Order: sequence, then structure tokens, then C-alpha cells
Amino acid sequence: MRRFATTLKDFAPRSEFTTALRMSNPPAIRIDNLVKRYAAPDGGEGKLALKGVSFDVPQGGIFGLLGPNGAGKSTLINILAGLVTKTSGSAEIWGFDIDQQPRNAKRTIGIVPQEIVFDPFFTPFEVLENQAGFYGITKHFRRSKELLEAVRLSDKRDAYARTLSGGMKRRLLVAKAMVHSPPILVLDEPTAGVDVELRRQLWELVARLNDDGVTVVLTTHYLEEAEQLCDRIAIINHGELIADKPTRELVEMAREKIVRITVDRDLAGPIVEQGFHKVEVVEPRILEITYDRDKASAGQVLGQVQSHGYTIEDVTTREPDLEDVFVQLTGTG
Ligand code: ADP
Ligand code: MG
Repeated sequence: MRRFATTLKDFAPRSEFTTALRMSNPPAIRIDNLVKRYAAPDGGEGKLALKGVSFDVPQGGIFGLLGPNGAGKSTLINILAGLVTKTSGSAEIWGFDIDQQPRNAKRTIGIVPQEIVFDPFFTPFEVLENQAGFYGITKHFRRSKELLEAVRLSDKRDAYARTLSGGMKRRLLVAKAMVHSPPILVLDEPTAGVDVELRRQLWELVARLNDDGVTVVLTTHYLEEAEQLCDRIAIINHGELIADKPTRELVEMAREKIVRITVDRDLAGPIVEQGFHKVEVVEPRILEITYDRDKASAGQVLGQVQSHGYTIEDVTTREPDLEDVFVQLTGTG
């Protein structure tokens, strides 16, 4: 068994609160008609960052909140975190209304904010101990040492936070968010501006936590990342929800398919046939055809190319990815 699984299982049952939570069955997060208008500094209209967003995050999965910069992702997360006051609508975290039961709502969620902020003179161990103190967790129930192990920072236990690399700081933030053993972990753009190796490490950590039963919500504007990690994805754009579906269904919504065909001789020009959305001669002998997979099959497309007298030497196809879906849904590139 993996190390972290052991530590989490060791610790979870010690809290009656978390045990009780795991036995109840509301959605991890329920958001209902959430509106946020930021006040304008000049007293004018202000920015309408969320225009009545509603969705549920089911328990147990990895949920992706996707959208371009400025879509309203951080606003939504920060409302859940209690850092931003909503204008109207409601939100529940593990069945606890954020207005009516703010303490319980806060106890059931751990949030890794988009911006990294630490007091540079605290050590990782102290950062976690302070956070535990903030939640009123008594010494006996603290697990700073285990959390540092889980995020592979044991050897940095007593280093000043300011001496940590960007990646180590991110991992420390994840540990900090998990101090009170919340059943939900939210990561706001955990990989923005992060290198490939660190990204891999972060995803491994997220996957491990999820294996241990933690519901994960992450925001990202990397579509590929969401597609690989999340089992369900909601997309917001300009403060509006434009999709909320299992990842597989969302990907299937992209009806276009692309086939790249190499022929035996130089092409005289693009081949125009009904059902081809876009035809591009990318190299003298290579043709890229975008077609609607509801209306044609790859076999038909190849047949049409052959009917123009070409012999096909090579074929590759590309499955639609989230980028395609996003373009379809939002009409933006
Ligand atoms: P995302 O996290 O998806 O990039 P944000 O939630 O940060 O989007 O921002 C949504 C919109 O709200 C943007 O237009 C942004 O400029 C605006 N906004 C965010 N924070 C504030 C704020 N404190 N005051 C005024 N406008 C804000
Ligand atoms: Mg953001």
C-alpha cells in the first residue's frame, strides 16, 4: 500500500467530525444561481464576474472547473473559501450552507489559492502547525510531520519558506490545505506557470489524495490537463456556465474529426467533397481533412480521396480533444 494511503487512513478516523461526514451523502459542493458583481472603484456599474452559475460537484471524483482567464473561476473558488462575498445565490459545502453554517462549511474544504503567499520566515513545519492552531486542532491530533512526508518535504521541515523552490511552495500549500483533514480539496490553477516535472508531481499528489477518498476540484485553463485528470468538467466563460458533463461526454461533443493523408504524388490542389469542413494541403503530398464524424466515416473520406485518382500511402487520425469542444461551445479560439 502506498505510504500516503496509510497515513490518511490512520488519521481520518480520529476525527469524529470527518467520520460523520464521510457517512452523509450530499454533493461535495452545491452552487445555486451564484452571482458576483465586484464594486467599481469609481462607484459605477462594477464587473459582473458571475452571472448566476449553478452546478453540483459529486463526491469522490476529480472535478475540473475550466475556463479562460477572467472567466470567473477564482471568484467562485474565493466565494467558497469565504474570501469574496457573493452578491446573491447560495452555496453549500458538504451540505453546509456557507452563510448559515460557515464554520462547518469551512471545516469541510481545503483550498489552495492561485497566488502563493507565505510568511517567508516560517518553516514548512511551522506553517502547518500555525494552520492547525488556526483550526483549533490540539497537538495530539496534528499531523504536520505526516503531511510533510506526503508532499515529500520532510527534508525541508525546518528550512525558511522563502528558501523553497516554487514547486516546493505549491506542495506546502497543498499540505496546508489538508491540515484539518477536509473531505474536499480545491486547487485554483495549481499548474499555471509550473514546469512539466512539477506538474507531474502535483498530479501524482492529487491522484493519491483522490484515491484516499478526497473529492478534488481544480481550476485550470489547460484543456488537455483537465481532460486527462478529471472525471467531470464544468466550463465557465464570461461568468456563465456553458457546460457541465462527464469528461467523456464532453469530449464526444466535438463532432469534428481530422484525418491526415499522405498520397503517392504531389497534390494538384485541395480535394473538395461534400461533408469536408476544411481541406488543407499541408505538404505537397499531405492533405489534412476535417470532417463531421456524424456525417462521414474515415473510410468514406479515404474513398473520396482515392476517387480523385490518388493512392493512399499513410493515414493518421486525430480524436477531438477539449480544445475542439471549447471552440465549439464558446465560438472562441
Ligand atoms: P479567472 O480566475 O477565471 O481567471 P477571476 O475570477 O479572477 O477569473 O476574474 C473574473 C472577472 O472578475 C475578471 O474580469 C476580473 O478582472 C474581475 N475581477 C476579479 N477580481 C476582482 C476584484 N477584486 N475587483 C474587481 N474585479 C475583479
Ligand atoms: Mg483565477
